[in-house]
Amino acid sequence: MDNIKIKKLDVFAKHGVYKEENVLGQKFVFSAVLYLDTAKAGVSDELEDSVNYGEVCHFIREFAEGRTFKLLESLAEHTAAVLDRFPLVKRIDLEIEKPWAPIGLPLESVSVQISRGWHQAFIALGSNMGDKKKYLDDAVKAMDDLDGCRIVTVADYIETEPYGGVEQDDFLNGCIAIDTLKEPEELLDFLMDVEAQAGRVRTIHWGPRTLDLDILMYDDLVMNERRLTIPH
Ligand code: AMP
Repeated sequence: MDNIKIKKLDVFAKHGVYKEENVLGQKFVFSAVLYLDTAKAGVSDELEDSVNYGEVCHFIREFAEGRTFKLLESLAEHTAAVLDRFPLVKRIDLEIEKPWAPIGLPLESVSVQISRGWHQAFIALGSNMGDKKKYLDDAVKAMDDLDGCRIVTVADYIETEPYGGVEQDDFLNGCIAIDTLKEPEELLDFLMDVEAQAGRVRTIHWGPRTLDLDILMYDDLVMNERRLTIPH
């Protein structure tokens, strides 16, 4: 994918495990590769069709100066909020160097590098107890309110007959497409929380439920682990 590179942006900030670092501050050096499709801007020659790298640099600097983290890992994880702030950026490789790291030995620099990006997922929703439509609507709203999650499409809900031999009411089913920064396991944890908030209790397999949320697909991922089977 096309990219824009920011190399070695100096920021003076107060991150570190030692108290002195949180008071005195020191130099941090940020480098980032922003992955985006530059074709539209390439044709239009308009900045609004691309990402303003000046704004990204100022965002990073203000972000890093405005708070204090103990770990470079945490500073990097939170700085990946660039993805939320600049919607055209699909993926970011971010490196943060700490050239003055106080380790009592001469070293050129120490750094943490991470790579974070948007993923596309499809979530199935189902309910066959109580106010089924409200359970589905509330789940869609919970996904919409979640940081690092954007709803792309909500399909029309449909009524379906139950499957699996248990005598029970018809289901109302839906499906949503989302863009998410969450990894599959994190997404599953969140879906299980939303199910629990809807009063979901796991009793009979294929039995009645207030709310059922499944990850149908996640990018082109194929996995078969203890907690997660995708595609589902
Ligand atoms: P159910 O809610 O009855 O569909 O089952 C939920 C269980 O299925 C959870 O314990 C999950 O760990 C497991 N599971 C496996 N793959 C998936 C998936 N793709 N999406 C949601 N739950 C999954």
